[in-house]
Amino acid sequence: MIIVMEKNSERSALEAHLNEKGYEVHTLEGGDDVLLHVVGDTNALEAQAISSHEGVKKVIRTKEPYRYVNKPRESGPFLIGEQSLDTMLPFYIAGPCSVESEDQIMEIAKKVKEAGAHALRGGAFKPRSSPHSFQGLEKEGLMHLKNAARAHGLFAVSEIMDKEDLPLFEESVDIIQVGARNMQNYTLLKALGKSRKPVLLKRGFANTVEEWLLSAEYLMMHGNDRIILCERGIRTFEPSSRHTLDLGGMLTAKQTTHLPVIVDPSHAAGDYRLVEGLSRASIAAGADGLMIEVHANPFQALSDGAQSLKPKRFAKLLRSLHAFDKHNKHFP
Ligand code: PEP
Ligand code: MN
Repeated sequence: MIIVMEKNSERSALEAHLNEKGYEVHTLEGGDDVLLHVVGDTNALEAQAISSHEGVKKVIRTKEPYRYVNKPRESGPFLIGEQSLDTMLPFYIAGPCSVESEDQIMEIAKKVKEAGAHALRGGAFKPRSSPHSFQGLEKEGLMHLKNAARAHGLFAVSEIMDKEDLPLFEESVDIIQVGARNMQNYTLLKALGKSRKPVLLKRGFANTVEEWLLSAEYLMMHGNDRIILCERGIRTFEPSSRHTLDLGGMLTAKQTTHLPVIVDPSHAAGDYRLVEGLSRASIAAGADGLMIEVHANPFQALSDGAQSLKPKRFAKLLRSLHAFDKHNKHFP
């Protein structure tokens, strides 16, 4: 960290404070400023508090704010169930926004498996904007999801909203999803950090990449290193899609961490007509997989029908992705 101070400002109290906390302080004088180079684990220092000290013009962080997510993985293969994620890339998660009935999820499971998906998604606890909208089948929905996934050799993925439900999720799903709205629910993240299940961490729609990675940092700091990041679009001024897919953000996350990063084009688009193009762009850009909403009868869906692909269209999309996939050995 560099603290830029006015030339003749009183700085002994600040230096003493930093030394007392265990930091080395090197001073560079000359010109109109005095620079204090603070050496040590400066992530724990509150830059804003320091900038309130008299004479401080600027505080510049020279280190990334991470201790875990930017380090290479050391604990062996990233397992989903018993299978290494590396052998499944690009990793395709598909299914309805919500589990609506036993038959509905069973039918979609069959179709997405045939199309080549690895995992079956289906919300059972739904974070709906309106309390009057369908809220999900809750525990029963998770059971239907689990049975449909098991019956078709798929991994089950579903969103958790409350840490009290963690035992239920641990026995029902293979990957626990944290939705955009809960990306900064730190109590939930701490609880999931202690879980032995992989976590799919969606980016909040009003969050920076740094905030997203710091949420992943919570999970890792509390012991869970099996995190899949998921870019799902951010809120911008542009109304032509529900959210704006941030592929630059996806790449920044990939370049900053060693975590797998997938893309959810469905929630970014809000319209099924945009999903295929966004999927191809994501895979071509180097995403490690996709999460796509698929529904047999989108017009009857209880949530997110407008952005759901019909199974046939989904199957066609997956076939078309090979050409853009760097894991495909035929890729140039
Ligand atoms: C979902 O996956 O159904 C969902 C609610 O997504 P997000 O949290 O990205 O809005
Ligand atoms: Mn949805």
